[in-house]
Amino acid sequence: MTTLVFYSEFDSFEAWSALLAPQLPDVTICRADQVADADSVQFALAWKPPRGFFAPYRQLKLLVNLGAGVDSLVGRDDLPDIPIVRLSDPDMARMMAGYVLFAVLRYARDIPAFERAQRERRWHYLHPREPASIRVGVLGLGELGAYAARELARQGFDVRGWSRSPKALDGIHCVSGAQALDAFLGSSDILVVMLPLTPETHGLLDAQRLARLPPGCALINVSRGAIVDQPALTAALQSGQIGHATLDVFDREPLPPDDALWGMENVLITPHLASVAIPASAARQVADNIHRVMRGEPVLNQVFPARGY
Ligand code: NDP
Repeated sequence: MTTLVFYSEFDSFEAWSALLAPQLPDVTICRADQVADADSVQFALAWKPPRGFFAPYRQLKLLVNLGAGVDSLVGRDDLPDIPIVRLSDPDMARMMAGYVLFAVLRYARDIPAFERAQRERRWHYLHPREPASIRVGVLGLGELGAYAARELARQGFDVRGWSRSPKALDGIHCVSGAQALDAFLGSSDILVVMLPLTPETHGLLDAQRLARLPPGCALINVSRGAIVDQPALTAALQSGQIGHATLDVFDREPLPPDDALWGMENVLITPHLASVAIPASAARQVADNIHRVMRGEPVLNQVFPARGY
């Protein structure tokens, strides 16, 4: 018997097992607290499992992270030495791109100004700007970043992207490496943060780097709060050096009720839901990677703990 063990406090076991079972007829799928024989467990599908979770599963061959972000996983010191893969699902990328598009268009079309004017019963005509005149910088051109950058380019924005290694994406001006970052920030009227949280990106957007952004720019963070120095961001939003922010992720989640960001007119807060794993489409990819391991083939969408993503 071969078992896939499932662990998540956020995702539905019923939904995932109903979708995976027909694709994995020779695999028993069960919750972590229902595993009868730990030695039959060869596969794990897990989101933020507790410390020591992997220890009983000595025959584990593949760990599937039930999400795209792996920062909570790769830093652990109890990881088994087996391939780790992440979800890399086009439906999840489309949902993320939808959020980014919404947030960018909201600023590009001056919607916050109209929301304020409406509250004041004031007819406030602002002539729409051409999208090509608005420079949108996307930090991180991975599965989610590249998809969002392409959607933004389709809307006619002047899209630029920054990644670790050089990239070529149609219609997007791509730059790479730490030395390119300051100039990149200086030419982003709207900055979208789509980097993974790693030792290299932790605190990357500190006070000095935030000061490089054009005065009055907008910042959208959909990746991880700790990439941005939150007190420095708050101060820059208070002074107007950064004009607006849309924040889906924070240093501490839930964002504490007394945090200054809650009360700021120029900040839109959402509770970490820019995108979620979508079982209907992602289950195919989970099953595919399990079949690959069974056939002794290389897995797709592998995560490298030493690199951090
Ligand atoms: P990927 O791992 O596919 O891509 C990461 C991108 O960031 C790559 O382009 C990579 O460069 C670049 N990068 C990594 N480190 C550096 C660095 N030091 N300097 C410059 N560029 C760097 O990630 P995804 O696109 O799939 O996801 C991004 C993040 O979004 C996730 O890590 C997760 O934290 C977050 N997320 C948030 C959700 C939400 O609801 N808010 C939902 C899902 C994910 P290169 O291409 O050269 O490797």
